[in-house]
Amino acid sequence: MKENIREEEILKIVKEYGEVSRLELAETFGLTSARISKVTKNLLEKKIIIEKSVGESSGGRPPVYLSINNEKFKDILGINLTSNRMLYITLGKINGEIFKKKKIAIDLLNKDEQEDILKVVDDIIGKEISQNPNIGALSIIITGSVDEEKGISVMSPHYSLKTPKVVEYFERKYNLPVLLENDVRAMVLVEKQIGSCKNVKNFVVFNLGEGIGSANCIDKKIYKGHNSMAGEAGHIVINTNSIRKCSCGKRGCLEAESSEMAIIKKITSEIKIGKYSILKDILKEKEFLTIKDILYGVKKRDFLVIQVMSEAMEYIARGLNILISVLDPEKIILVGEIFSSKFLMDTLKFELNKLSLDVHSYAIELTKLGEELYFYSPIAVVVENIFENRDFTEKYTRD
Ligand SMILES: [Zn+2]
Repeated sequence: MKENIREEEILKIVKEYGEVSRLELAETFGLTSARISKVTKNLLEKKIIIEKSVGESSGGRPPVYLSINNEKFKDILGINLTSNRMLYITLGKINGEIFKKKKIAIDLLNKDEQEDILKVVDDIIGKEISQNPNIGALSIIITGSVDEEKGISVMSPHYSLKTPKVVEYFERKYNLPVLLENDVRAMVLVEKQIGSCKNVKNFVVFNLGEGIGSANCIDKKIYKGHNSMAGEAGHIVINTNSIRKCSCGKRGCLEAESSEMAIIKKITSEIKIGKYSILKDILKEKEFLTIKDILYGVKKRDFLVIQVMSEAMEYIARGLNILISVLDPEKIILVGEIFSSKFLMDTLKFELNKLSLDVHSYAIELTKLGEELYFYSPIAVVVENIFENRDFTEKYTRD
């Protein structure tokens, strides 16, 4: 039998269950109620948890439940820099409530701002804090490789930062605890907390935007790997004969063949060399194509668009098949505008069926969260880290 228990261990259970009695805690940890009470007394004094009397018991005192004291935790300011070059700003609370949402298109910022995105984020943080003195934590999400323990953006293919030490920079400047996480890993947390993976132990989130990324949840935890790079599905080589160079330097990566950017490039160059497509006039008029134009081409069953998209779905299926074979997930959540097309989803499922083993039963679906996925991501990272990440929790609860 365990003799002692740390406050964090109790808090994690209270957070997970929402409301829990001392007796239930004692049973969970195999300790006496007296020992549990000793720790919870401390937590009650620090106002991290509160007592609630719920209903009447049969005679005697009504049962008392413990829950997290949401008032103890100040507001969270979240910034999410996504692979579609949008900046999402969220103000929310530790119980998941969101009370302010705003988004900015990065490409509408001026050139100088685009080249120093940290300065843009800094200005937003400064402005939000001056308007809301109750902000007590910052949560920043960025694309690319993130070392969340060191708080460093190792490499972002979409954004240029003057310093990679994001956490240190903002912690010093604002004297607030800061968390930094990769965009797709944050999506895993969102799906787990408020999406369709609440009770799913093993699942994959596959994000297709300008680039391609994925992240895995294994036994209810994010799997990061040795270099914190697990799930870089975009750089699986799926076409060894390809001449297309990827942002990573290799050729034939899934991202170089099937990301939004790759698809747009392929269709644009085919039209330019004279292939017939109903998108020809749109390209002539605007001088560029968007993923919405491509989806229009799919809807109209344009021959060229269908040809390029069918090949893209075949490549995506190859990438997903590798993830399925290695991880055996219960669910695959797809994120990205192209998956909103039923035709493309059916093509993808058809291709995947040809490749995967019958014994692998899994569900594959488009996220049901829409833009909420991006707004909630920074909040989800804080909810996940509270009582898990000691340093962050101590700073967040210090007064
Ligand atoms: Zn690559």
